[in-house]
Amino acid sequence: GGKGQEQAPWHPGSTSNVSYAPGDPKPVKAAFVVLARNQDYNSLRKAMIDLEMRFNQRYNYPYIFLNDQDFDETFINMTSKATKAKTYYGKIPAEHWDYPAYIDQERARLARERMEEQKVMYGGSESYRKMCYFESGLFYKHPLLKDLEYYWRLEPGVEYSCDITFDPFLFMKENRIKYGYTVGVYELSNTIPTLWETVRNFTRDHADLVPEHNSLWWVTRDGGQTYNGCHFWSNFEIVDLSFYRSREYETFFEYLSRAGGFFYERWGDAPVHSIAAALFLQKEEVHWFDTFGYFHPGWGHCPEESAWSGGRCTCEPNRLDRFITKGQWGQCSRQWSLLPDTPSQIRRA
Ligand code: GDP
Ligand code: MN
Repeated sequence: GGKGQEQAPWHPGSTSNVSYAPGDPKPVKAAFVVLARNQDYNSLRKAMIDLEMRFNQRYNYPYIFLNDQDFDETFINMTSKATKAKTYYGKIPAEHWDYPAYIDQERARLARERMEEQKVMYGGSESYRKMCYFESGLFYKHPLLKDLEYYWRLEPGVEYSCDITFDPFLFMKENRIKYGYTVGVYELSNTIPTLWETVRNFTRDHADLVPEHNSLWWVTRDGGQTYNGCHFWSNFEIVDLSFYRSREYETFFEYLSRAGGFFYERWGDAPVHSIAAALFLQKEEVHWFDTFGYFHPGWGHCPEESAWSGGRCTCEPNRLDRFITKGQWGQCSRQWSLLPDTPSQIRRA
């Protein structure tokens, strides 16, 4: 690998701009992981072709596709032809998609009806809840991900609008980063009425799991009384899976699961991942990939001017309506780096 790769001046890593062919051993066991339905194949191809052009044609990390149904021939054919890297297709085991036994399905159905009437986003959808539940605490248990150290989440319909001239997996490994994001936003509070209360109960019942020096300032500014809604927009995330596989995270997910809010409310995987990062990770263990141009229907991130020109971007940095990370609504993106160095001590609240 490595032929003709110019290192952009804004490149944040040191050795992570080496490239690899499809069959080359990689310095990190990593893959793109895509949860998708058969009918998503075309919007997924657009996202893959973008990602290949901007990054993976030089790095050739494999793709792992997961589905609660069997993938059909069209999906397999159309996605495998969008890359020269290896592609793997897996079915989600029923016990990772079905309701846990302790969930009252009638209560869940009534909650969906009520939230549909209240026009909560995806409030009436059962499959959306299963998706969020799976993405919160189960996807990394799939056999195809068994040996993975890092994963990069990819969704149908997203756009990558700047060249990525280094290996973010290697960058994360070299710098001991556990969680990488491009966009931080505020959550819709009507999807998570009792999430924060449950988190507070967790910090009381499992005080030993929450470090004294945590990152909770990012999610609460009143000593733990309320959640400010900040979360990483998890349709993009690159994560060291040892974070999700840790005793702390596992205990946290199990605690939330038993509280029922994935099904009696509509808790998203984004606030769950993000609150866990704030509880368990240090400031230096979370990285904003602010040189990536990224768009998921709704919003995205377009890098600052210097990175923009260095990275051959096609996004328009001043479109505040599209690129939420710059304006007032982008505070969650920028504030992680402003975390105070003094211990938060919120578990005492
Ligand atoms: P949004 O980004 O929150 O608007 O939700 P999406 O509709 O994009 O869903 C998030 C991810 O889960 C995408 O990768 C979808 O393809 C996938 N997804 C959503 N619902 C299902 C489902 O019922 N089955 C499968 N296999 N994938 C799903
Ligand atoms: Mn999506």
